[in-house]
Amino acid sequence: MRKLLLLPILFFAMNLSAQQHVGCGFDLLLEAEQDGKAVRWNEAYRYALERHMETHRTEDIIQIPVVFHVVWNQEYQNLHDSVIFSQLDVLNEDYRRLNADASLTRTEFLDVAADAEIEFFLAEVDPDGNPTNGIDRVESAVSGFALNLFDFSTLDAVKSSSTNGADAWDTEHYLNIWVCNLEESIWGQIFGYAYPPEGAPNWPAGNSAPSPGLEGVVLHYATVGRNNPQGLDDNLEGNERGRTATHEVGHYLGLRHIWADGFFDGCAEDDGLEDTPNAATSTNFICDYTKNTCDDGEGDLPDMIENFMDYNEGECYNMFTYEQINMMRTNIELFRPGLLEGYGVAVEELGAVQFTVAPNPVDHQLTIKGNWADDALVGMYDLSGREVFAKQVEGRQMNIDTSFLESGIYILRVDGLGETKIVKK
Ligand SMILES: [Zn+2]
Repeated sequence: MRKLLLLPILFFAMNLSAQQHVGCGFDLLLEAEQDGKAVRWNEAYRYALERHMETHRTEDIIQIPVVFHVVWNQEYQNLHDSVIFSQLDVLNEDYRRLNADASLTRTEFLDVAADAEIEFFLAEVDPDGNPTNGIDRVESAVSGFALNLFDFSTLDAVKSSSTNGADAWDTEHYLNIWVCNLEESIWGQIFGYAYPPEGAPNWPAGNSAPSPGLEGVVLHYATVGRNNPQGLDDNLEGNERGRTATHEVGHYLGLRHIWADGFFDGCAEDDGLEDTPNAATSTNFICDYTKNTCDDGEGDLPDMIENFMDYNEGECYNMFTYEQINMMRTNIELFRPGLLEGYGVAVEELGAVQFTVAPNPVDHQLTIKGNWADDALVGMYDLSGREVFAKQVEGRQMNIDTSFLESGIYILRVDGLGETKIVKK
């Protein structure tokens, strides 16, 4: 385990409620590892934000393949497929701002609440190329996995079959989500946790995954989905909406808590994002719309308790901000680019054609996925054979901006694989 210099301070800093509900566990680790120093922005972080301020646009949807490893010891922990599907729905709603409770975002935050344009789908193909439903079930010989601040590997044991868990699938190309019994310990009940990407800006050193096979999200089984019969087993009423996954995936994509985990520094510690108002503490699972812990002078806003990166009951969560979205999308491009390469997608057999295109008809953006050679060329031609577009493939998925095309029919050709007709609306 990494350094835990501030353990005694940590202990006293935890209030009673925090002892009961540790939340995602990151505040403990962060405080332990950043050695009490306020975390500062760095240049890469600023660069990432500015870059995406300029380039963020609609209809540029990121689709992430997901595998759920359901590691169970008791039958009731072996969650039904429908609970996993429900969890996926929650993620897709929250990351597209299609959540019904988006209407509860307070007026003062409507200008910064946005659609992250990130979607999640259950993998259709496993890393060996075999068909899958994206749900990996493993019966475990141990009753659960508990937090030990002296040795975080007791939790990460769920990520290996050699320690009664389930092995990761190629973490470069799949988002791995382990579901298991995270046992309550003297530190409290952890609902879930996730490592930020290696190199993600604005995180103290030492927080990324100790090895690539440990990348991903871990969820306490009772927090998964919103139709979970064990939804109350985490002893927190109001947490039955599958929002722990939304929060932990935020960490996995490099977001920090909006109060920046400062136990003592309070308002001096910031998540580095300008459109999440400064907050000194988490909401600590209390849905208090009057909470305003930091006075930011003129135009001071209340704490953004509805932000997915606070600690709140699921029923108070409802938004990400633009800067959070920019940060996540930049982190995917820079630090988790393998997620964009189209793994996990079953490529349909269309005669000789070994690739898929969607949508068709197309408006602004065409997504092509295929089993092509690394140097294959994708070309688009009008019906008279004139080339309108040509590009070498990148990964196993590429997006083509088709907004410049006039309406009509085009031929899309992938060298060595075949061709298909595309209709531009
Ligand atoms: Zn967290």
